[in-house]
This record gives sequence, structure tokens and C-alpha cells, in this order.
Amino acid sequence: MDSLFPTSPSDAAPPATGRYARIAVERGLDSAPEGLTYASPWPDLEVGERVEVPLGRGDRRTGGIVVAVGGDELLGALKPRGIKPIANRVGAKLPEPLVRLALWMAEYYVCPLGMVLAGMMPSAVKHRVGRHVEKLVEVSPDAPAADEEFKPRLPEATLEAWKGILALDAGAMPAEPRALAIRLGLASIGPINRLVARGLLRRVERESVRSRSQAASLEFLGNTAPRPELNPAQAAAVGGISSTLGSFGVHLLFGVTGSGKTEVYLRVIEHALAAGRSALVLVPEIALTPQTAGRFLDRFGGVAGAAGRGVAVLHSGLSAGERHRQWAMAAGGLARVVVGVRSAVFAPIANLGVIVVDEEHDSSFKQDQLPRYHGRDVAIKRAQVEACPVVLGSATPSLESWSNATHTDPPTPPPLRILGNGGSPGGGRVSGPNSPNSVDSHPPRAKYRLWRLPDRVGAGRLPEVRIVDMSEERRKGVLMGEGRVGAMIGPTLSGALRDTLAVGGQAILLLNRRGYATHICCASPACGWTLLCHACDAALVLHKSANLPRGGVVRCHHCLGEQLVPDRCPVCSRALSRLGTGTQRVEEDLSAMGLDAGSLLRVDSDSMETARDYFDALSRFSRGDIRVLLGTQMVAKGLDFPNVRLVGVLSGDTSLHVPDFRAGERTFQLICQVAGRAGRGEHAGLVIVQTMSPREPAIVLASHHDYESFARAELATRVACGLPPATRMARVVTRDEDHAAALQHAQRVATAMRELVEGPESRADATGVPGLSSVVVMGPVDCAVGRIAGQYRVAVEVLAPTAGILRHLLSALRSDKLLKSDAHTAVDVDPVSLM
Ligand SMILES: [Zn+2]
Ligand SMILES: [Zn+2]
Repeated sequence: MDSLFPTSPSDAAPPATGRYARIAVERGLDSAPEGLTYASPWPDLEVGERVEVPLGRGDRRTGGIVVAVGGDELLGALKPRGIKPIANRVGAKLPEPLVRLALWMAEYYVCPLGMVLAGMMPSAVKHRVGRHVEKLVEVSPDAPAADEEFKPRLPEATLEAWKGILALDAGAMPAEPRALAIRLGLASIGPINRLVARGLLRRVERESVRSRSQAASLEFLGNTAPRPELNPAQAAAVGGISSTLGSFGVHLLFGVTGSGKTEVYLRVIEHALAAGRSALVLVPEIALTPQTAGRFLDRFGGVAGAAGRGVAVLHSGLSAGERHRQWAMAAGGLARVVVGVRSAVFAPIANLGVIVVDEEHDSSFKQDQLPRYHGRDVAIKRAQVEACPVVLGSATPSLESWSNATHTDPPTPPPLRILGNGGSPGGGRVSGPNSPNSVDSHPPRAKYRLWRLPDRVGAGRLPEVRIVDMSEERRKGVLMGEGRVGAMIGPTLSGALRDTLAVGGQAILLLNRRGYATHICCASPACGWTLLCHACDAALVLHKSANLPRGGVVRCHHCLGEQLVPDRCPVCSRALSRLGTGTQRVEEDLSAMGLDAGSLLRVDSDSMETARDYFDALSRFSRGDIRVLLGTQMVAKGLDFPNVRLVGVLSGDTSLHVPDFRAGERTFQLICQVAGRAGRGEHAGLVIVQTMSPREPAIVLASHHDYESFARAELATRVACGLPPATRMARVVTRDEDHAAALQHAQRVATAMRELVEGPESRADATGVPGLSSVVVMGPVDCAVGRIAGQYRVAVEVLAPTAGILRHLLSALRSDKLLKSDAHTAVDVDPVSLM
């Protein structure tokens, strides 16, 4: 091409690498798993950059991430002439290890790569909300260091300015022209402009992100106590984990509630920072665990030096501008510790030294929309990519993690020919991504290292837990609320509550059901009408509100649709009954019991609209203004208040009778976690668990704080039934407004799976895939909630002996175009909810 300017040889022929780039566009395109090829006008384009490219007919500009740069090898069968150029570089970039992580996620979770990458970068970052560009000047690199040369040619004032600039400290430039003029004592910026015109100064831009609202203040609950002494168990864990910094490994920190797990995380992170590395901490929900987050802020707030705070916080309560600012702090190295929720596993922090996943059992780490990943498992994979240790902590570890920490590998099966590395996060082999899948000669050993913290720190003791048989309590006929059927506080609990309040203690009451009444039914048993959502197979829940007609609304907890409260049965015109007690009604019962309204606070997602509401509630509770917190599982997580002497579980059964094989595990976790809020100070704690199933093992073992016995029995059941973690599960849910269409689609998926499982590949010879024939395909079957928001839902479930075999099966279906994550199909690998 002709040019007005002489070109250097390198300009004439762009380098062979960097001429083309593969872009994963932010669309559900599953047909181009490695991205689409575009021409790159910029030789310095890097993997991870966000760009805009023309896509489809009409060349619509579409965002995407660069996943590869290179030369002709990216063309494949394409002709260079047909390759369109990238339209625009946006200026935001994901670190390269995250692109590698995304490639793994796209395959493992059966999700288009562009969707995975799109989910890694918050939309505030994509759209650069709050971006601020400063126009600055700096000394031009060609400017001579001595001023003599210019003396004859510069006007007097300009020369003086130039001398002044050369005399400035090294850190003074680049500077904003007006500020520089003031600093030099100039009357105007004229001399500075002339220095630019002469080429002695040059203009540069510096980008920053500003936001009006700073991160919601988390420090107010922070623990400003001096650094505690470590007890021997804590010291062993800190020493053991810290000694593995610099290489990948998974550690399970199993400590009873109040055993000082957070202090172990803090010390391990101190070691990582001292080694010049950074750290990432994932917590279930910062709005719900402000005390934990506050401790990280207190300890590391100043690590980055006076210029910047050392901790970036990423959670759902941030404004768009603040999210971008926190992200940029992590990306720019201003923050060397990132504390955040599930999606913070994608924080753009470089040079990771350790990853911590606190409360690793918590189901909020699982994302229930595309990409359907588990934050804990992605954290493990990220640690592998970054070659650093990951610490999973819990008082009630998931059975997946527990079995990896306590069970040794079965005899290693022969390497799977087709599968490549089966590097699965939760239960697969923890080998490096490139390590040979060989039979090693080491003695068998657990995949995760286990560290136990068996005792509470300081004065805390584990509370006494009393199980109360609710049918007994009912027989006594002295239930609160004048013996009302369905009243939720029995005489034992109400007595304990009175006693606790009388001696100045505080109490936490848990009921995992929101609203006032969960069912509205015809009072006539002969009629049996129940108010259902017109779009879902679910009953509508009554939510009271004094300022609404008829005193409230009925709301669907699945599609969030609302209706007026009906006053009569539409079938037989009789009066209606309100059954199934929720938190709102318990609040009413407690007031009836004489509890002063000012000292009681209901905490659920209805009463707490923002993180701020919750912080305020907790600070009032910590000051003692509020004596009783009543709430859903929000109150079960992480709260640490020394004056809580009573915890009441109003119904130990709410999570027990759901059609899900993890119902027992969830019940155990919930009771243990909420019980753990009691007795953390010098006063002994008491926990009362009301249940209709007082002999249920999950409840009895939780009352003894006996996780290990529970895990042993539950794991034996899972092995016997072939359920995770003994096997690996995937679930495909098809959705359609037409039930027959959803069923037919699910049938196609199930048939294709069965053909693979029974086909020639599953033969037990050299051409076969070992283990494929033992895959179990279940369904299609209607989901437990058969219809949500007008869409019928049909499920196919697969159980495979290993993650590798599951991946083989899913990718075979995916490449045959039988499996695609889209509006009609949800593919859930390692599902945690089976509803
Ligand atoms: Zn609904
Ligand atoms: Zn009726």
C-alpha cells in the first residue's frame, strides 16, 4: 500500500503473529467453541482484551474477548480475504489465567465460551462506568536533560518554567497542566503549552475510575481486638498450609463454629503477602457476613501502602461505579487482597498466592443461571491454573469436600484414552493440568489435606442443644397464640426465651419460611380448594402489609407474580383458612407474647431490602437495642455476638422433607450453623430445636455437634445408592410452554445418552471407554416444581462413576448438537438443587 510516510521494514509486513485473533463473542454461540477469527489491526493486541467485532448479517457490533492471537494458523480453512477486522478495542482486559479458566469452564459446564467470559467481566467494567480520563503532561523522553541548549530559543517565562520542571522531584510528573502551573508559580498555563509545542513536554492520559458512593462501609462491625494468640490446632493449620505456598494443593479447614477459622485465613494470607503474592477470599454473601469481611479490611486495609487500601471488596450491594472502581483496584495491583462473593472468583488480581473459600458448603456458591458454575469448584481450578494453594473452610463441610479429604483414591483406573486430563474440581484427580495421567507409585492418600480445629477459641464453649418433639408440645395444648393450630413456638422454647431475656441475654430464632401464611385454602375439607399461582405449580404465599387493600398480597416465590388476597373460596364461597406459618406470623405471635416490638427484629429478604438495612439491623443487635432476631437462614450465617445465649430453631423439618437426596445434609448444616451462633462469649449457650422428627439422624447428630458421625453415615448411604459424591451427576432440564414439547426434547436427550452408554464405546475392551457402561440415565421425569413462569420443566439426570466419564458423555452429545445450554435447555453439571 502507498503511504505518505516512509515505512520501516516492520511496518511494511505486520509480524506473522498478531495478525489474526480468535474472539469469543458474548453470545450463546456453541458452534464456534474456540471463538471466531478476525483480523487484528493492532500487533500488540493481547489475550484477554475486550473488543467489539462485526457479527452476522448487518455486521452488528458485538462485544467479545480475545482468546488467541496468532498468524495463519488461526485461519484454518478460512480465506484471508473473507476475514473481517476487529472494530474496536474497548480498553478493559481479563488476566490471561482467567481466559484459561474460562476454556476449562466452557467445556466442564457445557456453556458457550463467550457466555463464560462475558460472565467474568462485570457489566460496569465492560461499559467502563465511572471511568475518568485525566489529561496530563510529562517530560518528553527526547527532551535533553540540560537546559542550556534551549536557552537562546525559549522565551524567558517558558525557560523559567522548564528549569522549574527539571528541578521537580521524580514523582511529580506526569501532572495536570493547571496544577503544574500553580506549583511552578506561573500566572497562566501558556508556558506549559509552549513547552508542549516545542516537544519538551508531551501530553499523556491517565485513566482512573471514580464513584460517588464508596463501598458500603463494612468496618463498623469490624473486630478491632488485638491479634489473638493462636491455639496449637490453629498454629498447626497455619504452618502446614503456609508451607505449601507456591504450589497447587487443596486444604480443608474443618473447624467447629467459633473455632477461629478466620484467624487461620488471615495468618496464611499474611504469609502469602510477605512472599510478594496476593490473595483472594470468597465468602457466601458479604451482606450477610459483614463481620467476616470487616476482619479482612481491618487486618489488610493498609497493605498497599498509604496511597491505596489493600483490600478490594466485590459484592452484590455495590453501585456500578463502585464495582468498576473495586475491580480496577484489583486489576491495577492497588489491592492485594480481594474479598468477595461467588463471582469474585473471577477477580482480575495478579500473582495469586492463596485462595480461601469460607463456608465452602454454602449453596450460594452455586450459580443457577448460565454459566451454571460452582464458585468453590472454580476456585479450586483457578488455584490449579495459578499454581497456588486453596483453603476450603467450614464447620459442616460439603460431603464432596469431606470425602476428598478423608477418603483415599480407589485403585487408579487405566488412563482414559479419549478423555485427556479429567481435571475435575470437586472430586477429580488433583493433578496439574499437564501432568501425565499416570499410575503413581505413592501410597494412596487423600486428595485434600485435612486440618481440624476441634475447640472453640477463648471463653466460648459449644452450646447445649435440646431437641423438642413438636407433637408433644402441641399435646400440651399450651402453644403460643392461644393454642392456635400451626403456632410455631412451643412452651419449652417460649419459657427459655423468657428466661434468656430476663437475665439480659439475646436470642436468635430461625424459621426458614418467609411471609405470613404459606397456603391459602378453603376452610371446607369437602371442597379442598387451594390458591395456586396461575403460571407455576406452586401455592401462593400470603405477605401481610398494613397499607395494602385486604391487608396484603399473595405472592408466588417462583415467578414473583402477585395477586390481591381473595376473601372467599371461588368454588364454594366459604371462608378461607391461612395455613403454614411464616416469619411474619411468628413476629405477630411474639408480640402477642408480650415481647416489646422495639426489641424484636424480623430479618428476611422481605424486611431487608438492601445490604445497608442488614448492616443497620446487625449494629442495633450488637448494641443490644434489639434483643431478639427472628429470621430465615440469613440469621444462620456467620454472626458472632457474644451475648447470644439462646438459639431457637422453630422447625427443624423445613428442609428435611424436600425431594432432594441432600435434604439430610442441608438440615444438618442449617441446624449446626445456627446453633453455632449461641454461646460464643462467656455465657453458656442453649439451643432448642423444635421438630416433628425428633429421632431423625440429621437432627440428633447436629444436636451433638457430631459432624463426623453424620458424614460417615451419610456417605455410606450415598455410596450404597450410587449418589454424589460417590458418583458425579449432571442434570438436563428442558423447558417449554408446551408440556409435550418439553417432554419430547428431554426424551431425545435421554435416548441419545442411553445409546452412548449402551453403544460400542462402552465395551470393556481396548476401543471402549472404561466405566461408560456403568453410567445411569434417569428420566425424563417432570421436575418437582413442574412448571415455573408458564414453562413446563422436564428433567433427565445422569450419574457417572467419574467426572471424566461424565465429561466424555456430555461433550459427545454436545458435538452432536443434542445438548446446548439455551432458553429451552439448562445443563447443570454437579447440581446442588434438584427442584
Ligand atoms: Zn408463579
Ligand atoms: Zn371451597
